[in-house]
Amino acid sequence: MNKLLVLFLCALFAQICFSSVPLKQSSIKKLNSSDEKVHLVSEKTNFKETGKYSEVKDLCRKFALKYPRQIACKVMGLTSEQREIYYLISSNKDALTPEINVRKKLPVVFIIAGTHAGEIDGKDASLMKLREFLENKSSDNPLNKMTLVWIPVFNVDGHEHRGRFQRPNQEGPFEQGERTTARRINLNRDWMLAQTPEMKSMLNLINQWNPAVTIDLHVTDGLRFRHDVSLTVAPEFGGEAELTRSAKALLNQTLTSLEEMGHHPLGFYPRLLDKEDPKAGLILDIDTPRNSHTYAAMRNRIGILVEDYAWESYPLRVKTCFDTLDVLLNTISAQSENILRAERNADELTKSKGGSLYSLDFEVDIPQTKSLTKIVDILGYKYEILNPAPIVGGRQISYNLKEAEIWHTPFYDDVRPNKQSVITLPSSGYLVPLAWVDVVKPYLDMHGLSYKVLKNNNFNMNVQAIRVQPEDVIFESSSFQGRQMTYISGEWIPHTTAIQKGSIFIPINQTKSSLVAHLLEPKGPDSMSAWGLFNTAYEISDYVANHRAFELVRWMNEDEHKIKELYGEELFNQIPQLKNEYARKMQIDESFKIDPQARLNFWISVLPQQDPSLNLYPIFRIQNNAFK
Ligand SMILES: [Zn+2]
Repeated sequence: MNKLLVLFLCALFAQICFSSVPLKQSSIKKLNSSDEKVHLVSEKTNFKETGKYSEVKDLCRKFALKYPRQIACKVMGLTSEQREIYYLISSNKDALTPEINVRKKLPVVFIIAGTHAGEIDGKDASLMKLREFLENKSSDNPLNKMTLVWIPVFNVDGHEHRGRFQRPNQEGPFEQGERTTARRINLNRDWMLAQTPEMKSMLNLINQWNPAVTIDLHVTDGLRFRHDVSLTVAPEFGGEAELTRSAKALLNQTLTSLEEMGHHPLGFYPRLLDKEDPKAGLILDIDTPRNSHTYAAMRNRIGILVEDYAWESYPLRVKTCFDTLDVLLNTISAQSENILRAERNADELTKSKGGSLYSLDFEVDIPQTKSLTKIVDILGYKYEILNPAPIVGGRQISYNLKEAEIWHTPFYDDVRPNKQSVITLPSSGYLVPLAWVDVVKPYLDMHGLSYKVLKNNNFNMNVQAIRVQPEDVIFESSSFQGRQMTYISGEWIPHTTAIQKGSIFIPINQTKSSLVAHLLEPKGPDSMSAWGLFNTAYEISDYVANHRAFELVRWMNEDEHKIKELYGEELFNQIPQLKNEYARKMQIDESFKIDPQARLNFWISVLPQQDPSLNLYPIFRIQNNAFK
């Protein structure tokens, strides 16, 4: 197939396959000339190289000049190194603004490339695809039916930080960009937290355009096989049924069309059960909303993750990505009525989600019985497991790339809600106390969520709260994306609180209720709590000094009237019972007996609470119609 593809590629881009012109100043001048067909640096170098970001800027402006009614060239924001992030809006329907698209009811599709800037096939493929659409006068051009918004490079700083060896598990181009942004943030884990200027700009653009489908173009990270592209759609599970069906229909048609073109696509991202033995099994990858495709599903939209096969040569990868885009965009165009209807219906359904069960996370069930296992045939290579491996020892895999092999591999794709993450959504919504408004509000705005700022004080509000037990707070010991992830558990229970004017109420019944729940329910894998934004709620900030604790323990045992003076009669009356309990524990619990700190804590723990807001989850839930 590879040879066929090369021939096809050469037929398509004839002049580039037989010339190898290095990038020169003159070629940039050529790009700026408005009456010549634009060729990319990648094409001019026979796909040995990829252009610098100046090429994207030049092309963006050049396309807009040449096709003023079909293209708008814009800047969506600045990177942390103050580079402009360009995007192109393309339409054959005079629909170059979000407002016109809403009025004309046209689907909008986002095509994002260069999120991981070393995986840059998507940039070259999408610029070539856009050029082809602009030159294509036929009636089946997707631009006649949809508005396409192209972000050729999302991680612009990473793209410009080029190096020879930044993608060790990838064949070309000669220099590759960096995976992370200049501040070392992985943008495809930043969709919920949006801690980068790049993602803030992207969410702003998404809020403006409300894309029906988001396509995110990547390259796999290393497994050796012969499939040239893998596609993952969302929602694939957990979403509204009609929307999930639409997403799967889009995936299935795309896979069929790609196969007809001679490609070998996979309809999932392959994750190995045992990385030294692909035949041991593959597990369906489950991504949380921090990833682009799952994030789209949280907005009741379709997200697609495209992963070209990293070990394929760069020209073939660009060709695969080019074909995948072609098939995807034509399929979306053909299925757009169904997709838009499913999304509208999903929006309506999520507006009445209050009080229903909702799963914040999913897991794959791996059956114990082998007979229940599904087997898939993967186009692999022969391999050997060396144990002990020469030189380094241990267990290592060695592929024989000269010998193809079919792997009859167990595939685990039985996805179920993770039981611990299943919640009942509040009937009414969430309440952000005034003290936490400046922490939470920016996220509500970034994600385009509806909320109400409360205008009155309410000193006796019935709410639900979570009081977290100290042992149910787990701080991660290492950082992720520069944050300390934190996992808490606990149940919502009735609580009374005073609400100050300026607090915020967020209704659950809105089209983006999934995003509301994911941000504010602490069990959400990408909740604000999980990302460590509420950590001060769980940090001990005051304590009883040991000498004071010891003094109080002595009072309880030797000078009880001092306890009565300090804490009142109630605690004083409990002391005889406490003494009995202590004596009994000393008799029966040897570990307690040899632990002076535990013995001290026994007495101290009965004293009135020192820090009433410690371990009180800072968001409340509202079950009644108080703020409707
Ligand atoms: Zn990637």
